[in-house]
Amino acid sequence: MKKLIPYGRQSITEKDIHAVIEVLKSDFLTQGPVGAQFCEALAQQFKAQYASVTSNATLALYIAYKALGLKKNDHVWTVPNTFVATANAALLQEAHIEFIDIDKHTYCLSINDLTQKLRQARVNNALPKIVVPVHFAGQPCDMKSIHQLSQEYGFKVVEDASHAVGATYRNSPIGHCEFSDITIFSFHPVKIITTGEGGALLTNNLELKTQIDKLISHGITKAHADFVNEDAPPWFYEQQELSLNARLTDIQSALGLSQLKTLDQNISRRKKIAQNYRKELGNLPLRFQEAEEFQSSSWHLFVVTLEDKNLRLPLYNHLRELGVLSNVHYIPVFLQPYYKKIGYDQLQCPNSLNYYQSCLSLPMYHGLTDEEQDYVIKCVREFFDVKV
Ligand SMILES: *Cc1c(COP(=O)(O)O)cnc(C)c1O
Repeated sequence: MKKLIPYGRQSITEKDIHAVIEVLKSDFLTQGPVGAQFCEALAQQFKAQYASVTSNATLALYIAYKALGLKKNDHVWTVPNTFVATANAALLQEAHIEFIDIDKHTYCLSINDLTQKLRQARVNNALPKIVVPVHFAGQPCDMKSIHQLSQEYGFKVVEDASHAVGATYRNSPIGHCEFSDITIFSFHPVKIITTGEGGALLTNNLELKTQIDKLISHGITKAHADFVNEDAPPWFYEQQELSLNARLTDIQSALGLSQLKTLDQNISRRKKIAQNYRKELGNLPLRFQEAEEFQSSSWHLFVVTLEDKNLRLPLYNHLRELGVLSNVHYIPVFLQPYYKKIGYDQLQCPNSLNYYQSCLSLPMYHGLTDEEQDYVIKCVREFFDVKV
């Protein structure tokens, strides 16, 4: 029986394992020095002033929105071509979610659609409090344009960079937050680097950082300088906000810190795999994600769209029979039964729907060997040679 090739998976080295074992033998399994080191390393690597870590990216999004002051009935705008968590984190705070369409060629947030919907929203007095661009498949959105619009229309920007650890935009790493208030990362095993489960928030704003850290730990602060009580005894801590426990353990931080050290190799390997796919599949009736020169992807996913969308399911099945597990990213969020139930329809985002009907993610991860990729390519080519 042939080994299955998934669309994405983690790579764990002996060094990673050793780093985790060291923490298991130490005094602190959580809230110890390694968590703090991981935060510092993230801030340094991605050129942000501050980084905080969370138990997953869903909670990072939830906390990002809350730290920016999201209130009941506020509006949050994002794309439908994302994982449900981006939108759910706003609905959970009783905010309204609205969907902006993606661009036909980049599969990321369409600046045209955003601009049009902002103009309309100004007339209707329904401007968003927060806009959440998603760097889909690892490709940065056009952040400069989004930032300009945020100045004009007065909204906050949270980058959902779950896919984009290691991506760059205009020669700066994603996470740098030059064009946003907060950037969030995911460290789920299918993403670029992993902590098992895990996430991070990066920002350049000290006030936001303080708020984020409180929200990660029950709304509690232990910094006496920030206390409301003036004569607090030495054992005191203050709960100043309502929140929950979203902390990452030191065990997980050790894994993340170790994984971060080989990020550059990880990204170059993914780039090479992407170039090879483009070269070898270029003459088939498929399209690839397009980018401007200043947008450099981390290649979390390698997405193709089929010119004939009726061939997507047959290709998916053909690959699966041969042990290649492709996937579909994403089912537009508004098609989910929950979203339908609360009244969302699909008319507003034709590009997202069109894209969804023809897209397929081929195996992409830095542990994918040349032989495995050759096999995937052979299977895809064979499908078009024989069946079409
Ligand atoms: C994976 C992912 C999330 C959620 O990340 P978790 O760490 O699994 O909670 C959110 N947004 C996007 C775009 C993702 O891909």
